[in-house]
Amino acid sequence: MEKQLLKLTKDNYYSQEADKQYMSVSQVKAFMRCEAAALAKLNSKYTEPKSDALLFGSYVHSWLDGTIEEFKDENPDLFSSRGKSKGELKSQYQNANLMIEVLKEDPFCMMALEGDKEVIMTGTLHGHPFKIRIDVYNPLQNRFADLKTVKDIRGKHWVDEVGWCSFVEAYGYVTQMAVYSEIERQNRGGDYLENYIVAVSKETPPDKAVITVDRERIQLELEYLESRVGRIGRLKAGQETAKRCENCWHCRRTKKVTSVTHYMDLI
Ligand SMILES: [Zn+2]
Repeated sequence: MEKQLLKLTKDNYYSQEADKQYMSVSQVKAFMRCEAAALAKLNSKYTEPKSDALLFGSYVHSWLDGTIEEFKDENPDLFSSRGKSKGELKSQYQNANLMIEVLKEDPFCMMALEGDKEVIMTGTLHGHPFKIRIDVYNPLQNRFADLKTVKDIRGKHWVDEVGWCSFVEAYGYVTQMAVYSEIERQNRGGDYLENYIVAVSKETPPDKAVITVDRERIQLELEYLESRVGRIGRLKAGQETAKRCENCWHCRRTKKVTSVTHYMDLI
């Protein structure tokens, strides 16, 4: 008999149980970075320190879903605790406020951000249950959108398997748009919605853009995910052994040197 899957809500979406039962884009990305670390995290042997970049992104998202005041109350780290600026928002969050203002003043970006916020859906990809959380969902206007805060929008990034590419590929956002498109389509029926990445940069003044990934690339990405998702499924089920990257926080922390490395093998 099929096991009944957890019904996802805002409160349990990021829980360990939800991550065990469902795959997600961030889980796929975590397994691509380091299988051993991703698996250790899933089995709670490993808690990654919460990064500043993550908190920064959450701050801007709390504006989008209208909870910025609660977010400030819950995160005293946003405020300076000493010196002349004590009690004021730290400078990076003042910059975040500037990014928010820039979006607010741009009618096209605001149009792209119109719709229901933080919509949770589940579906199946290559036989595995998946969960998604859409920043902005607007099926009536035939689109969904994801808000990204980035260093810059047109910078070049190096990815070993791809070569030079934009932040969209470098940070796995093509994968995200593909998975979101497919899972959303399964819930609604019909064709894929338009996908928008609303990007705003941390530069002064902030740059902004509304970016999309074409259907052919979405299709290719979904096909490409088959072997990857299969491997993650077997790793989660304990049927295969996780590879260590020997480079991340988890691997460095659990490393034992067992042989001598030739200097040419270091990079
Ligand atoms: Zn690792």
